[in-house]
Amino acid sequence: MKPFIDANKIDLLLKKTMDAPKTAARSIINASLRLKGLAPEEVAILLNLNDRETINNLFSVAKKVKEIIYGKRLVIFAPLYITNFCVNNCLYCGFRCANKELKRKRLTIKEIKEEVIILEKQGHKRILLEAGEDPLASRIDHLEKVIPAIYATKSGNGEIRRLNVNVAAMSVPHFKRLKKLKIGTYQLFQETYHPGMYKKMHLSGPKSDYIYHLYAMHRAMEGGIDDCGIGALFGLADHRFEVLAMLYHALELEKEFGVGPHTISVPRIEPAGNTPLTSHIPHPVSDLEFKKLVAILRLAVPYTGLILSTRESAKMRNEVIGLGISQISAGSSTVPGGYKRSLNKKKVSGQFSINDNRSLKDVIKDISKMGYSPSFCTACYRLGRVGKDFMDLAKPGLIGRYCLPNSLLTFKEYLMDYADDGLKKLGYQVIASHLKDIKDNRVKENTTKKLQDIEAGKRDLYF
Ligand code: SAM
Ligand code: SF4
Repeated sequence: MKPFIDANKIDLLLKKTMDAPKTAARSIINASLRLKGLAPEEVAILLNLNDRETINNLFSVAKKVKEIIYGKRLVIFAPLYITNFCVNNCLYCGFRCANKELKRKRLTIKEIKEEVIILEKQGHKRILLEAGEDPLASRIDHLEKVIPAIYATKSGNGEIRRLNVNVAAMSVPHFKRLKKLKIGTYQLFQETYHPGMYKKMHLSGPKSDYIYHLYAMHRAMEGGIDDCGIGALFGLADHRFEVLAMLYHALELEKEFGVGPHTISVPRIEPAGNTPLTSHIPHPVSDLEFKKLVAILRLAVPYTGLILSTRESAKMRNEVIGLGISQISAGSSTVPGGYKRSLNKKKVSGQFSINDNRSLKDVIKDISKMGYSPSFCTACYRLGRVGKDFMDLAKPGLIGRYCLPNSLLTFKEYLMDYADDGLKKLGYQVIASHLKDIKDNRVKENTTKKLQDIEAGKRDLYF
């Protein structure tokens, strides 16, 4: 079997498009408004773009595409780290087994439930479960205990309605068992698609097998997982290479399984405790390059969710949200047990350092001021609008019909159950203005009715 990532082909494509005229870039940017996505060569031309005026044009079209498809709503989630034990030695990561200075912690089910209650009390409804590759705590038989326990943990109106999972690559039979646990998206980042850099960065452990890691999403889909999330850790290899490789990954999944990735994550390397990479990032990505790559991905795979974490600063996040991000984490900790510890004001080192330390409440305040509606919506996955069915619906306007109304309903729940008076006032203004923007009168009426039902005490209403 020939791997679907051909490093030479990507290098050649980047070389070949190095001096493409800016007129070529402009016509690609304009054509992307048809929302059909971009071919690798077109993406390569945009990745090589240096002309400032054309880059500004790229940003404004990415903004338009984002608003046509996603409206002004942003899905919010929190990571939940259950263990920092790890058998791998990834040079960039604070959890790597060679880091003897890290205090290791594996949460018990009771401790996991305590963390979940803290997140629920803040208003979270979506969790991303994260773990180092821990022979005890990230094994499927342990997850079979952890995941049902998380779903069963409720406090007041708080509950976790969608649990996404980012744990080590598995075999097909194990993915089949993971699917039975009713997870949302299975995420796994290739970190770097560049085989040479991958080898340099992953010194030992199961993850050091590039091909096994590369084909994880194939196995996940064979195991019946509907929604897969891919990503690259920016800073390892040339970011242009990684963006093109992610596009090839998306095309490959579409070819083999009829559906591309549900989400793409764009983490940039952050300093991590006692890691050799902290002072030497092989291919640092500047803020401008980062904004460019988010905008390009938005045009290249318009219907794929783009996820931005708290690795980026609040300022950066506010800037790139408009360029195509559809999901953000908020109020995050990368430490197992970190939410309880932060209640006790204890500082501990995590997998990497976080640059946006705002609480969930403050993130919601800020994005509301920017005119966005935060969304805790979990409707699609609970109604079976997943995998290919999701993509088929997304194309003719899923967002207008479902996403925006659902974001308003979940925002209203949040405001009623968790917000102070100031945020309530601001939030109700945001809801009212978005409600006005719903074009279909029937959808508008139904949304208004459901908002009234929430006001009257009903919860968990969705389309
Ligand atoms: N252990 C699993 C794995 O590596 O696939 C689970 C995911 S790990 C908890 C989540 C992600 O954090 C990794 O895939 C990696 O991209 C990212 N990460 C690790 N070290 C990082 C660093 N120093 N800065 C930013 N992100 C980092
Ligand atoms: Fe372990 Fe994941 Fe960190 Fe690698 S990135 S050391 S696999 S936790």
